[in-house]
Amino acid sequence: MSILAPFLALLLATLLVAYHRWSLAVFTALSATALVAVALAGANMTATTVAAVLLAVVALPLLITPLRQAVITRTLLRIYTKMLPKLSDTEKTALDAGTVGFEGELFSGMPKWETLLAQPKPELTAEEQAFLDGPVEQACRMTNDWEVTHVRNDLPPELWDYLKKNKFFGMIIPKEYGGLGFSALAHHKVIQKLASVSATLSSTVGVPNSLGPAELLLHYGTKEQKDYYLPRLADGREVPCFALTGPSAGSDATSLPDFGIVCEGDWNGARVLGVKLTFDKRYITLAPVATVIGLAFRLHDPDKLLGDQSDRGITLALIPRDTTGLEIGRRHFPLNCAFQNGPVRGQEVFLPLSQLIGGEDYIGHGWRMLVECLSVGRAITLPSTSAGASKLAAVVTGAYARIRKQFGLSIGRFEGVEEALARIAGNAYACAALSQATAAAVDRGEKPAVPSAIAKYHATELAREVARDAMDIHGGKGVILGPMNYLGRGWQAAPISITVEGANIMTRTLMIFGQGAIRCHPWVLKEMQAAQNPDQAAGLREFDHSLFGHIGFAISNAVRSWVLGLVGARIGKVPGDAYTRRYYRKLNRYSANLALVADVSMLTLGGKLKFKEKISGRYADVLSQLYIASAMLKRYEDEGRPAAEQPLLAYAFHDAAHKIELALSGALRNFPIRPVGWLMWMLVFPWGRRAQLPSDRLGRRAAALLMSPSDARDRMASGVFLTPCENNPAGRINSYLPKVILAEPVERKFLKALKNSDIEALDFASQLAEGVAEGWITAEEKAQLEELRALTWDAISVDDFDPFELQAASLHMDKPKAAQATRAA
Ligand SMILES: Cc1cc2nc3c(=O)[nH]c(=O)nc-3n(C[C@H](O)[C@H](O)[C@H](O)COP(=O)(O)OP(=O)(O)OC[C@H]3O[C@@H](n4cnc5c(N)ncnc54)[C@H](O)[C@@H]3O)c2cc1C
Repeated sequence: MSILAPFLALLLATLLVAYHRWSLAVFTALSATALVAVALAGANMTATTVAAVLLAVVALPLLITPLRQAVITRTLLRIYTKMLPKLSDTEKTALDAGTVGFEGELFSGMPKWETLLAQPKPELTAEEQAFLDGPVEQACRMTNDWEVTHVRNDLPPELWDYLKKNKFFGMIIPKEYGGLGFSALAHHKVIQKLASVSATLSSTVGVPNSLGPAELLLHYGTKEQKDYYLPRLADGREVPCFALTGPSAGSDATSLPDFGIVCEGDWNGARVLGVKLTFDKRYITLAPVATVIGLAFRLHDPDKLLGDQSDRGITLALIPRDTTGLEIGRRHFPLNCAFQNGPVRGQEVFLPLSQLIGGEDYIGHGWRMLVECLSVGRAITLPSTSAGASKLAAVVTGAYARIRKQFGLSIGRFEGVEEALARIAGNAYACAALSQATAAAVDRGEKPAVPSAIAKYHATELAREVARDAMDIHGGKGVILGPMNYLGRGWQAAPISITVEGANIMTRTLMIFGQGAIRCHPWVLKEMQAAQNPDQAAGLREFDHSLFGHIGFAISNAVRSWVLGLVGARIGKVPGDAYTRRYYRKLNRYSANLALVADVSMLTLGGKLKFKEKISGRYADVLSQLYIASAMLKRYEDEGRPAAEQPLLAYAFHDAAHKIELALSGALRNFPIRPVGWLMWMLVFPWGRRAQLPSDRLGRRAAALLMSPSDARDRMASGVFLTPCENNPAGRINSYLPKVILAEPVERKFLKALKNSDIEALDFASQLAEGVAEGWITAEEKAQLEELRALTWDAISVDDFDPFELQAASLHMDKPKAAQATRAA
């Protein structure tokens, strides 16, 4: 037997234990057994003895806990404490807020899929479904987006009243305060449907139900504040807004210069202790019509009226609209979207302490309050808006691509269009699964800090992609604005979603991976906490546990990455069916890859990783795509593994896998320490980068699903406003699809007769008459072709205007008169 046999036995034992992530004790026992076995089989005794000594030297000090802690851990703790990146207070607050859900598994390198699949299927209550079928449907019917965005630049008064009366602004407010007390899923479905008809409508309803006065009062409000404001917010007597952003404090919101000074002042005829506020805020949604303004500012107490501290930190207050000194009412004009948005300013505005959210107890806790509540709103408003817009664009673009004919064919039959249509199908499918997954996480009681950032970033990016492809497929029909255009305003609004609630570039590079790596990693946060434990003995014990857990974890991920890469992720016990098992296996591989590269990057780059946004952004993409793919697989299981949906799942999955490999290879090729990059490359891509974009054949199947009625198409269309009515050209076009398909054979017969000059008349009516007279078509077929012509005409028509209608009304008034008219409106 070769002299190498004992060392090979050790290597095999190491690979096996690391792959399965067994303990050090198991490793030692298995290695010892393997050495005994090779010795008995006649291996060279000297080599076996050397291997045994090697095993003892490595394993024994690690197995004897007091020895390990005293010698190894203490030294490593000293080094670690020096390397530990300094976290700002803002970062610490962000890390402390929120919970970790399935995304933690994705960071583990060995996700427990049964945990994901055991999560209950998200379901609406009968009451929530009735609200969607009743008031939400009615609100959609009442919305004419052209009138909203061009004629009024606002929702019509009767729609405002309808929304308030039906408590659309009180979805998150519990019933005991007069709200609807809806689940996050219902909230998601309402916003999704409203967004499919108008971004102005969905933003107007989304904001009061997102991060703002209601959410903050529910968590931190005093009893008096809750009792007074929540019922009024629920039924729309109060319209809220929340003002954090200012000209100098955008993404870096904690740098806000707005301040309040503790002092005495007059309030409702009495002299009381309060705060004098000076602030300059902008971009504030609903501000122009708000009756109560939530405000973030820094509180100062120079006269120490509230205690010893002068700078009390970020604090939140509620300002009634009629408060003296408040300047409000002017509007911004965000990309032709008509939701109310504008600046809020104030100079020495006095408020009593009772107007601070949570009262005196919450002075200085403003940032924590915002961050804790942010994840819930961010998980719903923009992801649901994006899902609604994408679903609608997908089904209607599919119908349009079938109805619109050029060169004698439906444009969807041209491969160029089919390619774009397939992307729409995959992106809309991913977007819908992602946004529902984060809403479901909220309903499970999570505060999904990292998934909400993933959902916000990716749902809005996916929706932008969908809008771009849908616009291209519609050609001029998408470009010409007017009542018949159902895409242009959504396309215009896409950058708004990208910017608000955490601008996307920052969300990707700082939040998803930055927070994800620390929060979701099984050991990093524990190590950091242990290293900072003031009780040194306890800190050493905790650090020892976390550090060696981490080392085992890292070795396991390196081995799993390499092994799963070598076998093309074809091994491992996973759930799913014959169609999806390979997907779970691929995700196992990518999860191990992410855990490996994250660990190596944190170890080798330390605090510098925070500033290497091109690297961390790519890691964020890997984590995000893992999350999106998991959400799609969960949805597929929840829906009962529908075979009809498999092309959509497959398309979106291959796209996600391709993006993961692209991101990993980009990060490794550009890794600042080259030898480390090469080493990681060998472990992650032993055969090179292999994932491909979805194939053309798959793309054809995905695109075809959007162009013909099917189960999968119905599911894509569910939850969006497709009622064919006067205000809804998209719904009308969608409703034409079955009739258009039914008429296609007759149309082909008729076109053939024209082409062969069997029918010679020039205008359509005469051609039909000649066709019937000469027996090329029947009278019923003539009627069918006439209907087809009418439907097609409605589908492809665009608007034109008297030039006067496109001019701003203010052009025809003098300025004071125009201002007066606006106020009156
Ligand atoms: C229509 C609209 C409605 C809004 N509604 C509200 C509201 O109701 N209440 C409210 O308080 N705020 C609101 N905002 C503010 C919004 O939520 C954003 O936080 C804000 O717009 C971002 O600031 P900024 O536009 O000044 O961009 P900047 O902060 O100047 O950012 C510019 C770019 O730099 C990037 N960037 C910044 N820092 C980093 C970094 N460290 N790493 C990488 N990239 C970075 C950003 O991602 C962005 O792409 C609204 C904004 C808009 C446009």
